[in-house]
Amino acid sequence: MDCIFCKIVEGSIPSKKVFENEHVIAFHDIQPAAPLHLLIIPKKHIASMNDVEPEDWPLIGEIHRAAQQIAREQGIAETGYRLVNNCGPDSGQIVFHIHYHLLAGEKLGGLNVRSA
Ligand code: AMP
Ligand code: ZN
Repeated sequence: MDCIFCKIVEGSIPSKKVFENEHVIAFHDIQPAAPLHLLIIPKKHIASMNDVEPEDWPLIGEIHRAAQQIAREQGIAETGYRLVNNCGPDSGQIVFHIHYHLLAGEKLGGLNVRSA
């Protein structure tokens, strides 16, 4: 399958990995939008939030569990962070392998993200 994040999971495309367990990996976003910008993804290919099947919900929990651990390990658990999932055209989703952005390292802007 021609999925860039599946290739990162396989290791055929390099990434700056910060976390890996049985279900999940996390790596640095190549175009960081904050001082710390990580992507947390399941190893299983799921295209988007719209494609999560009932049996996948524990995996979504695993992503959140990884986020909590990564935040501690990266030293930003106390200063704070934002976890973002984009789904579909209006969100600007460009990679169709479900992923959560973990943004941190400075005071983040508000949630007024309406385009001009
Ligand atoms: P989204 O708009 O939520 O689909 O965001 C996809 C994210 O993946 C963007 O922030 C990209 O910068 C990031 N990205 C795309 N290709 C790579 C890659 N090879 N390694 C790391 N991050 C990537
Ligand atoms: Zn994939």
